[in-house]
Amino acid sequence: MQIARYKTTNRLKAYSLAWKYIDLIYPPQCIICGKIGFRCCPECWEKRNLYSSHICKICGKPTTAGELCAQCKIEKPPLHIIRSLGKYTGVLQTFITALKYERNIGLAELILPDLTRVFNHTPFQTDMVIPVPLSKKRERERGYNQVAVWGRLFAMDIHQDFAPRALQRTYHTLSQVSLSAEKRWENVRGAFSANPEQIRGRNILLLDDVITTGATLYECAQTIYQCGANSVSALTIARSSIKKTLNKIGGSYV
Ligand SMILES: [Zn+2]
Ligand SMILES: [Zn+2]
Repeated sequence: MQIARYKTTNRLKAYSLAWKYIDLIYPPQCIICGKIGFRCCPECWEKRNLYSSHICKICGKPTTAGELCAQCKIEKPPLHIIRSLGKYTGVLQTFITALKYERNIGLAELILPDLTRVFNHTPFQTDMVIPVPLSKKRERERGYNQVAVWGRLFAMDIHQDFAPRALQRTYHTLSQVSLSAEKRWENVRGAFSANPEQIRGRNILLLDDVITTGATLYECAQTIYQCGANSVSALTIARSSIKKTLNKIGGSYV
């Protein structure tokens, strides 16, 4: 165990060093202010909107009073615990967009300390980390699954098994970003399949970049439970609301 931990720590250091060399040759620009030499400069990174302690202890949504949000008081979600680092706005939104659509994968390691801090302060029961998969078509087009990029590093950081192929998207779905709340649930229904041999009896931590309605994570969780998982939790970088998503695309459904 000790040797395995030592190895993963060294792999993370090597990864970080490799990016430092690449950045020396091709100096990056801050995704927020454009300053040369940083992927996101410390001044801009500090402005990310992270959640404080006022969150629902089950679904992680910000709450104004009490330990549970109004929704979890009525009906608990199918996941054991859900946490997000912060609101899908400002720095976190630009970070996710740059990683997802602009191939800025060198950004990934910046988010590790936040993920690990939230992980260490949350009573997750996990022994396997799985990123929400893209369809084969979308992964081919993009060239990578952006969640797997930071998910692999995060799993190394917390010394847990990383299983990016244990869950698959069985057919190509529309991007959730352009859909209404109701359509999002329909869009992902039956869209995933999982490998029972890898999943049976395990405590799974699902990763995604943004949670909005929860439709994708709930569908993934259901698929994983059907394969005999012991528990399923989720961790996302940001949390958005449908209203916010609509504003972003001009206030109308596309
Ligand atoms: Zn900056
Ligand atoms: Zn809640």
